[in-house]
Amino acid sequence: MQVATGKSILNGIAIGPLRIYKKDETETTVNSSLTPEEEYARFDAARVKAQEQLGVLYDKALDEVGEENAAIFEIHQMMLEDDDLLDSVKSIIDTQGATAEYAVATAGDNLAAAFAAMEDAYMRARATDIKDISRRVVNILTGQSDGDLLDDKPAILVADDLTPSETVQLDKSKLLGFITRHGSSNSHTAILARTMNIPALIGVDFQDDWDGKMAVIDGYNSCVYIEPAAELLTAMEEKRSNDLKQEALLQTLKKKPNITLDGREIKVYANIGNASDVGLVIQNDAQGIGLFRSEFIYLDSQDYPTEDQQFLLYKRVVETMAGKKVIIRTLDIGADKQADYFELDKEENPALGYRAIRICLTRKDIFKTQLRAILRASAFGTVSIMFPMVISVREVRDAKELLEECRAELKERGVAMGEVEIGIMVETPAAVMMAEELAEEVQFFSLGTNDLTQYTLAIDRQNPKLDNFYDSHHPAVLRMIKHTVEAGHRHGCWVGICGELGADQTLTETFLRMGLDELSVSPSAVLPLRKLIRSLDLSKTSEVQKLT
Ligand code: PEP
Ligand code: MG
Repeated sequence: MQVATGKSILNGIAIGPLRIYKKDETETTVNSSLTPEEEYARFDAARVKAQEQLGVLYDKALDEVGEENAAIFEIHQMMLEDDDLLDSVKSIIDTQGATAEYAVATAGDNLAAAFAAMEDAYMRARATDIKDISRRVVNILTGQSDGDLLDDKPAILVADDLTPSETVQLDKSKLLGFITRHGSSNSHTAILARTMNIPALIGVDFQDDWDGKMAVIDGYNSCVYIEPAAELLTAMEEKRSNDLKQEALLQTLKKKPNITLDGREIKVYANIGNASDVGLVIQNDAQGIGLFRSEFIYLDSQDYPTEDQQFLLYKRVVETMAGKKVIIRTLDIGADKQADYFELDKEENPALGYRAIRICLTRKDIFKTQLRAILRASAFGTVSIMFPMVISVREVRDAKELLEECRAELKERGVAMGEVEIGIMVETPAAVMMAEELAEEVQFFSLGTNDLTQYTLAIDRQNPKLDNFYDSHHPAVLRMIKHTVEAGHRHGCWVGICGELGADQTLTETFLRMGLDELSVSPSAVLPLRKLIRSLDLSKTSEVQKLT
């Protein structure tokens, strides 16, 4: 048995085989020992298999995200029949005596480069699709995973790093847990793991020969056991079954109010990153959705999602929540959340760069497409809109003006819309300091403590080396929160927290005493938080009062 340590993202146990995911590192052998005819036959067989995989993906996407979103997999199937690609692969095999994998990788790179240089934005975006299909065929030829775990059994995924867009595309039903060598506990990949309730370890120095071996992630002790001894495995299975029992016990809190012993009530909402997470929200009985990170729709897409595509996803979430509040945060792309087709420049300081509302206010067509989709969904339930990364009153006014333009356009089209509450994320020190003025513009504030900690303490939340310095309990951060609550309340705004700190049970009493109206947390944290809130008595004096 081998033991490796890391940093735990979620307290929990995962048991299963390890699966090492290698991306874009496939070393392809160049020279073939087979005849060109034999190599081409290998390529053709892999191509057919790739088309079968894409057919399975199409059916899955059709079920989960509808026909329009699923269409991309049909396009990929067609691309695999494209003469330019097939001719190029054949020519490289024939003229260079190359292996099929080298030929398809090279032909894919060449074609992708040609598309990337085109004038038309739609054609440029196809470069990513070409890379995607050539990687799929290469992976089949070299026996590597294609990264979507689809043809495989449930496994613990092991990777150097996972980007938010890779994480969002993983097949959650087969993902038991994940382990990465890099990454920080405040990154969006870590947040996604918490939302999905998946045990995960980061900072693990894994070895290639772990692939396929049985393992246990022990999230409580921040370690992973490779080929655990029988006794340990039994103990871990017991621990896991206890966890499941605890979870079942928490279910008895369903439908109970989030109210302290002395009668103070607070709303507990859930954060989601995907329309399909709404099932977890219902299962954990959250009173609403306090943060729908809409940018994950963009990350899960090969091209700008259209108004109709977005509308259908928002509508599905809003309908499922059946009248409960759904706060949709407008596009917060940039920094660690990158989608190739946005073609954002590499920046020296991406966290301080061109992102979120800054992109939306300058690329208005993208922003307005999203706003129209949200407004259309508002006819089906209770929708709020929240703008991220705000630093000034001007930005909020500009965003509201665009919203009004969209409302007028939809009215003109005869489209039904509901009332929409408007709020902002308070996640920059500037927004905290401007809270009085900003509160005059909106109906609510939601504190994004992940970024607020980053910007207040001048600590990059992505940098794993700084994890120990990234202290969300720093008095400066807590005072920012308190100031925001007081300023918001003075001007009639309700104030919540949607950053990870909202789920920190060591601060729940402090937050209640500060007067926060809402906490929005990952779905699996809703019932444990409810349990704690119901045990608190604010009428008693307490140590935490000093903080507030
Ligand atoms: C935050 O910054 O606290 C937040 C909720 O937004 P994100 O983590 O998506 O940046
Ligand atoms: Mg943020």
